[in-house]
Amino acid sequence: MARMSTATDQQTTSTAPRGSGESNGGGRPRVVIVGSGFGGLFAAKHLRRSDVDITIVAETPNHLFQPLLYQVATGILSEGLIAPPTRDILQRFRNIEVLLGTVTHIDLAAKQVVSRLGAVETITGYDYVIVAAGAGSSYFGHDEYELYAPGLKTLDDAKELRARIFGAFEAAELLAEDQDVSEWMTFVVVGAGPTGVEMAGQIRELAQRSLQRNFRRIDSSDARVVLVDGGDQVLAPFGPNQGKHTQASLERMGIEVKLGAMVYEVDAAGVTVTYRDGTRERIGSRCKVWAAGVSASPLGADLAAQVGITTDRAGRIPTNPDLTLPGHPEVFVVGDMVTLNDYPGVAQVAMQGGEFAAKRIKKMVAGKPIDRGESFHYFDKGSMATISRFRAVANIGPLQVRGFPAWVLWLGIHITFLVGFHQRVTTLGHWAVSFVGRARTERTFVLNDVELEHARRHPAEVADGRELHVAGESS
Ligand SMILES: Cc1cc2nc3c(=O)[nH]c(=O)nc-3n(C[C@H](O)[C@H](O)[C@H](O)COP(=O)(O)OP(=O)(O)OC[C@H]3O[C@@H](n4cnc5c(N)ncnc54)[C@H](O)[C@@H]3O)c2cc1C
Repeated sequence: MARMSTATDQQTTSTAPRGSGESNGGGRPRVVIVGSGFGGLFAAKHLRRSDVDITIVAETPNHLFQPLLYQVATGILSEGLIAPPTRDILQRFRNIEVLLGTVTHIDLAAKQVVSRLGAVETITGYDYVIVAAGAGSSYFGHDEYELYAPGLKTLDDAKELRARIFGAFEAAELLAEDQDVSEWMTFVVVGAGPTGVEMAGQIRELAQRSLQRNFRRIDSSDARVVLVDGGDQVLAPFGPNQGKHTQASLERMGIEVKLGAMVYEVDAAGVTVTYRDGTRERIGSRCKVWAAGVSASPLGADLAAQVGITTDRAGRIPTNPDLTLPGHPEVFVVGDMVTLNDYPGVAQVAMQGGEFAAKRIKKMVAGKPIDRGESFHYFDKGSMATISRFRAVANIGPLQVRGFPAWVLWLGIHITFLVGFHQRVTTLGHWAVSFVGRARTERTFVLNDVELEHARRHPAEVADGRELHVAGESS
């Protein structure tokens, strides 16, 4: 049986196998793909015309284009533009089915993927599995910071941050009459990698350009944006020259860049950092963004434990050079979950890894000989980050591009890789409105967004009857 779904009260709600799979005595082989991000989607597309049945199991119904999440958080794009439904993208391919559910376990011995959606547990048998479950935020052992400084990994994160950013300006306007609102008007971004730089730049532009005439009691351009990082430079992977250029650009925009600043404490009203000389600084801030660390999906640890290997500190799994799990040529792990050659956690690594795994599976299914010694090699097509409208940095091979030409490159590449014609055209329109004009058209948020998100992340507190928080305020 390829698939079985059961309600947790033990009542079987459906048993609907589609293709029995080689390992179950006939039919076409079944490939299960865990995750519908870059690795998962590219693997599925590559296998779409092969003689296999494919089941994608993902905990979100969409293919999320993470590189533009910061634009959802800062009101430039709507979530639908960067997250089209996976089943819509793949609707033409009859050999692909999409199942919603969080994979809780991959049973290597039984060749089964166990997933859960609410009370329903589903077991999907496989002949081959590609695990592309990505990574989440890491708080380096201080998970309690998440309450006050959400990361930016999912659509929920982006919507919560949008509510916190715009909510902070609203709170400042409300309280400005008789209170010091500097904490509400200070935005701290932790982590000066591409995501931190992009978030800091966009919050500053939002305050300086888009919101300027919106308020009566506050001047939005007074907003303080502080970018903190424990390292010595911003955009470390881009090299010192690009880092210096980016820092200077950010500072010209009025962003405070604090380097060598390790986060010591995060609470509802601010962040405390420690410098190398041991001095401490408290930055009062109601709205914080965590862009500092990543932690691979816990499925990496689940797989590693079954084959007796250990993951690295970020939870990434050491696969064989061909991205298979040691002792399991039918199990591939790709993208952000993998340590191989210390390749960076970027979309191209996941996409190329997904394609590599798909090609290997195609060969095995066709009975063609495969070279067991073949390794996955990532072809680095370059990296880029935006600083503000019309300004970016890009490294393409030995070439370092900056300013407007880098921004045009950034624009072209992001439009090319965004999935869907409608999404591309509409996104270009939104960019024209926001970057040539001043408007942010996607500013909708309700206070409930923040309250419900808080309740979802901290159910125990809500069960205790403690008050919910609004825009990062603590009880
Ligand atoms: C804010 C941000 C900006 C970025 N900007 C860039 C950039 O500019 N350029 C670049 O190259 N890279 C960028 N990246 C990195 C890039 O997005 C990732 O490297 C890439 O998405 C990794 O692909 P993946 O397939 O491994 O994981 P993902 O794309 O993250 O996909 C993971 C999938 O697995 C699903 N999933 C997770 N856990 C489970 C589970 N237990 N059960 C079922 N499904 C599960 C998720 O729902 C998702 O569908 C950025 C990342 C972020 C967060």
